[in-house]
Amino acid sequence: MRNSGLPIDATVAERRAMIDTQIRKRGVSSVRVLEAMAAVPRHEFVPLKFRNEAYADKPLPIGEGQTISQPYMVAAMTEALELTGSERVLEIGTGSGYQAAVLSLLASQVITVENHTSLALAAQERVTNLGYANVHVHNGDGSAGFLDAAPYDAILVTAGAPEIPRIFASQLRESGRLVIPVGDRDNQELMQARLENGELKSRALFNCKFVLLLGRYGWSRADRKSS
Ligand code: SAH
Repeated sequence: MRNSGLPIDATVAERRAMIDTQIRKRGVSSVRVLEAMAAVPRHEFVPLKFRNEAYADKPLPIGEGQTISQPYMVAAMTEALELTGSERVLEIGTGSGYQAAVLSLLASQVITVENHTSLALAAQERVTNLGYANVHVHNGDGSAGFLDAAPYDAILVTAGAPEIPRIFASQLRESGRLVIPVGDRDNQELMQARLENGELKSRALFNCKFVLLLGRYGWSRADRKSS
């Protein structure tokens, strides 16, 4: 089909390839998740000097020693939250705001907490400019969740924790899902937990490696230095 003279957005093809070769092939099958991954312009969340790698099969630096997660990881974590569209979701670890933007297309509201002020401010500006009006970024320690807007239908932690912070159970609705990487500093397992009769029932999904969840219920800076 001929187009009407508008430039064809090359990133559409890059996202399609990313979904086929990196995400669907590794087992993410939710059509809603794949559509959200196809819709969000990942290159807008990546620093200019890495834009040519925005759709590559890897995490990329975003400043402050942090990273935007690998596309597959974003898709797999999103699928594990089992969102239907009506949920209020809490994300801990806003980073670039990319994961929050993907979630915003699959839920009614996304509250996301980032402890680096510079990243939090940049992410809020980015998601607002791109039109993701149902994303709200807060600056602070999210290792204790975010009580002000609790309870949530789903909580996603995008940084590695030494264990599941029990406090998250009190901020989830019954049947709510929590997805969080748990392990030591170098390797974690992605855990999916569900609140059943007030108790978190968890199962391991697969191995992963995330930057550290710092803060009160995460790793302390001293833990980090002693490695
Ligand atoms: N979801 C992000 C990637 C996250 S990287 C994206 O889509 O780009 C993990 C993020 O967690 C980092 O930005 C890091 O600064 C943040 N983080 C680490 N500990 C935190 C804490 N206690 N509270 C809030 N954010 C934290």
